Amino acid sequence: MTDRHAVRVFFRYDDYSATSDPTVDNGLIGLFRKHGLCCTFAVIPRVTEGNYRDPRPRPSLELDASRRQALAAAVRDGSVDVAQHGFEHRSNGRGMPHSEFRGDDYGVQEEKIRRGKELLEGIIGRPVLSFVPPWNTYDEDTLKALHENGIQCLSANRYGPLVSTIETMRFLPITVELPDLESAVAAARARPQDDPVIGVLMHPYDFRESGDQRAQVDLDVLDGKLAWLKQQADVVVASVTVLATSSGAFDIRRYAGNQPFAQEQLVPPFIRGVADTPYYASTSGTQAARQRRLAGSIGTYVVAAIAGIAAGDLLQEIALSIHSAAEELALVLVLAALGALAWRTARQPRVYFRPMLLMTFLAGCGLGAAIGIFR
Ligand SMILES: [Zn+2]
Repeated sequence: MTDRHAVRVFFRYDDYSATSDPTVDNGLIGLFRKHGLCCTFAVIPRVTEGNYRDPRPRPSLELDASRRQALAAAVRDGSVDVAQHGFEHRSNGRGMPHSEFRGDDYGVQEEKIRRGKELLEGIIGRPVLSFVPPWNTYDEDTLKALHENGIQCLSANRYGPLVSTIETMRFLPITVELPDLESAVAAARARPQDDPVIGVLMHPYDFRESGDQRAQVDLDVLDGKLAWLKQQADVVVASVTVLATSSGAFDIRRYAGNQPFAQEQLVPPFIRGVADTPYYASTSGTQAARQRRLAGSIGTYVVAAIAGIAAGDLLQEIALSIHSAAEELALVLVLAALGALAWRTARQPRVYFRPMLLMTFLAGCGLGAAIGIFR
């Protein structure tokens, strides 16, 4: 770690565009300016009209003069760092989750990225080095097209595909939303050896000033949180672009280490996931966490199997000592219930932790009974 601060924080405000709420947009710029901090704005170069999720072709809108001026001024005084947020933010209709890029031909993706980047650079008068894919979705061709256009950093979330063949690409995913900022700082502070970076995601609709039903906070809350952050001597706020270009520690290995397990749904819920960690940890930090998680998961299933073996052995002994018809009936009922449970569990389309734990227990039962019979 090259920074003297234990905890680094970046803010990412998505969907600044010709149609985003100007009260929230300008409110945010004003607050970051007031506190002398920088926020990364993921700006849609030419936003589609209508619903982002509707893939049908239709007109799109460039930023108007007042938004262009506000953005350029904020970039000049350091309150805003501009990341490119796709091109039109219109779904390509190729499946869920939505994407503007994933699955499209390289040429189609490259053109959108190039044209969007030119528009933004024309507004702010400096190179755009960071990219935020709409819906945090992309593929290998997206990364190649970004690299081809001089983009150095991709900021998505911790679930993106690990497809980069470009060694120099940096990855800086978001990790929390605004309400969880303080608890994320506390968690990061407890493990400075993880080189924690907290990525805070905000949208216009998070703020009550937008009038949106989904709003959780208002601009005053952000004001208070920024003031609080400035009082934390061990915390520094920096933009996505400054972080990505000032340190080489955001390569694809770190990105991979911070991803959830492939079979995340089988992990016991009481074992905290890497992706539940409210910060982006260093590669070595994630390795330790992943090992703890794997060991905890295996241990839980081993305990269930041992309990099953003991129960199976016991059932078998009970079966041998049966004398009355009532006892026989009780045993048949217990076995039928276990069989029904196994049948129901095995028919689930996707197996989650509790059914898998139950299957392990039942498999142990069968094994325990067999051991008892042949003993
Ligand atoms: Zn977006």
